[in-house]
Amino acid sequence: MEPLANWAGNVQFRAANVYRPASVPELQRMVASSAKIRAIGTAHSFSLVADTDGDLVSLASLPPAVDVDTGAAAVRVSAGLRYSDIAPRLQSAGLALANLASLPHISVAGAVATGTHGSGDTNQNLAAAVSALELVTSGGDLIQLRREADPERFPGLVVALGAVGVVTNLTLDVVPAFAVRQWVYEELPFAQVAAAFDEITSAAYSVSMFTDWRSQRMTQVWLKHAGPATFPPPHWHGGRLASTDVHPVSGMPAGNCTPQLGRPGPWHERLPHFRPEFTPSAGEELQSEFLLSREHAVEALAALGRISATLAPVVQVSEIRTVAADDLWLSPAYARDSVAFHFTWVPDASAVAPALAAAEAALTPFEPRPHWGKLSTIPAATVAGRYPRMNDFRRLVAEFDGPGQFRNEYADAYARPGG
Ligand SMILES: Cc1cc2nc3c(=O)[nH]c(=O)nc-3n(C[C@H](O)[C@H](O)[C@H](O)COP(=O)(O)OP(=O)(O)OC[C@H]3O[C@@H](n4cnc5c(N)ncnc54)[C@H](O)[C@@H]3O)c2cc1C
Repeated sequence: MEPLANWAGNVQFRAANVYRPASVPELQRMVASSAKIRAIGTAHSFSLVADTDGDLVSLASLPPAVDVDTGAAAVRVSAGLRYSDIAPRLQSAGLALANLASLPHISVAGAVATGTHGSGDTNQNLAAAVSALELVTSGGDLIQLRREADPERFPGLVVALGAVGVVTNLTLDVVPAFAVRQWVYEELPFAQVAAAFDEITSAAYSVSMFTDWRSQRMTQVWLKHAGPATFPPPHWHGGRLASTDVHPVSGMPAGNCTPQLGRPGPWHERLPHFRPEFTPSAGEELQSEFLLSREHAVEALAALGRISATLAPVVQVSEIRTVAADDLWLSPAYARDSVAFHFTWVPDASAVAPALAAAEAALTPFEPRPHWGKLSTIPAATVAGRYPRMNDFRRLVAEFDGPGQFRNEYADAYARPGG
């Protein structure tokens, strides 16, 4: 068997077998005959969320369904497809997803399972678009769950860390296709960002701020405007309008990024920062991210600014985004409009450890929820206590996976049934 590592190379999966079924019935047979099995998407998570000492199963070889239902404003997609596989199909049908993450390289099911998000004051995380799931549960049964038909349990089954079964297909809400133009401002002083935080994050459909903590400034603020053309002023909140395309990570080629300078393009070629045909982000890196109630954004920025000397040597870039609240029990934005503080670290776990601990300590007063797919050392019991529906999720895990086929150490640490 080929050795399998995650995208970043910081996790070597322990799985005895990595299965690639070519059909759903074949997948059902594999689940039925495996004592312990767990789905893997495109392995872009940095945490141990996908790791198992049982078997892994990738759905990348299942038939690639993208069934558009324009009347219902919905698309049913195979779970193993990447956003970059489905977005052009939607665009050619005149449709769009409301939002995307910074990269389109990730599988839909993997992104949904971890509560992956983009940015935007009114944009919820990507899982909030899910209206139905087809799931192979323990023993190999195939079931369908729908948001409308099962309002009690459905919100617990979408962001589910792979712990309730193997998702084979997802149905997603879609909206009419739209164009986006992105502009970037450089070198905005933190003081001006703090004074106008809400004004800045609401200045466009999706806004991302970047800093490397080497100065008390946002090195870049990306504004992704939907709707009519805008004519941005040359200076804004102390920053200046970029005159060339840029990459958020210093020294990386701007050509890896989606076009800027106000050039209009379809939603899927502007909402992600990174183009599907290139390596996203820095390529050599670790990542952490913490979501907190957005009312704490300015205070949290100040707290991190105070430890910038600890962060700067090991941060390649940090990104600050906003995410609208949702009702998905394990979503890091559950029931709270959120601000997300992200860290793209250097690829050296021991050098990063003190800075990660310092960032977590600085954010503690704001009760951060770590991104499920990224690195955190906050004790699992503390994190679990920040999810009001965690006990209900534990009951769902027991209901859907009585024998514990899909459980792993990572999910058990937070959500062990009876725990
Ligand atoms: C360069 C880079 C940029 C990133 N940018 C963002 C960003 O902008 N926003 C953000 O929120 N996150 C971001 N992430 C994190 C990323 O979105 C998550 O790690 C996401 O889970 C990756 O999806 P995946 O398909 O690789 O999932 P994997 O890592 O393969 O799996 C994650 C989890 O999903 C489960 N899973 C996968 N497929 C299935 C299935 N079919 N059925 C049931 N469970 C399944 C797995 O069991 C596992 O628990 C980024 C990561 C990288 C490497």
